[in-house]
Amino acid sequence: MSKFKKIALVTGASRGIGASIAERLAKDGFSIVANYAGSENAAKKVVAQITEAGGQAIPYQADVSDAKAVHAMFNHVEAALGKVDVLVNNAGIMELQPLSKADTQHVDKQIDINLKGTINTLREASLRLNNGGRVINFSTSVVGLKLENYGVYAATKAAVETLTAIMAKEMRGKDITVNAVAPGPTATELFLKGKPNELIERMAQMNPLERLGTPDDIASVVSFLASTGSGWINGQVLRANGGVV
Ligand code: NAP
Repeated sequence: MSKFKKIALVTGASRGIGASIAERLAKDGFSIVANYAGSENAAKKVVAQITEAGGQAIPYQADVSDAKAVHAMFNHVEAALGKVDVLVNNAGIMELQPLSKADTQHVDKQIDINLKGTINTLREASLRLNNGGRVINFSTSVVGLKLENYGVYAATKAAVETLTAIMAKEMRGKDITVNAVAPGPTATELFLKGKPNELIERMAQMNPLERLGTPDDIASVVSFLASTGSGWINGQVLRANGGVV
């Protein structure tokens, strides 16, 4: 029998927080599906790092906003590795704009990837996850902070928090827990892109630990939520942000 007993599908595992989660869950003994949308080389690099360290991983390209592609991804994973045990809905994008300037294309893209993308994977997971499994969704601490310019992005993530609580109830009888992680500012391209250094420094100082989060900070939380030890936590949102809210 394979030493990799359980399978974890991590969306958006090519870069940032998702890449750290894939590497961390591989160290925890999961066989990893590293999903990505466009960054093929980066995803293959994550997979190579995992396999060189003695883990097991495969890359898989699928745009999570495409329901058919997500369905095909679950089919592929089941044929290649087996049924998924842990789904980490990490893939996401962020476009900052005041509501007065909310660009329709940006609004649609955030809803398509952050909200519909999450629904697409949750639909498959609710039908196909192994009993005893785990679902870990991604929100943001901005749902609590309610910062200007984050309106549309935060709204998509607030909806993900609602989906989390409702899916947890719908999984009754399957011993599947559904939770969300809500990071604060974390040093990845999504957060750093387009921000002047002075703003990054100011945002880093907002929490009492006076630093930005790292992808590894968030991967540790996901590792816990994916573990058997988190089994009594269900339908919750865990804010991982150094205490900013
Ligand atoms: P990131 O560095 O920009 O990485 C985003 C990842 O999502 C990439 O792997 C990207 O893959 C993937 N992705 C984007 N669109 C996709 C799609 N349509 N289908 C599949 N994958 C897609 O972002 P991050 O900071 O790691 O963010 C990860 C999650 O944490 C997001 O849900 C984000 O909202 C949340 N979050 C981040 C922060 C923060 O400060 N960084 C704070 C709170 C919450 P490709 O490169 O292949 O496109």
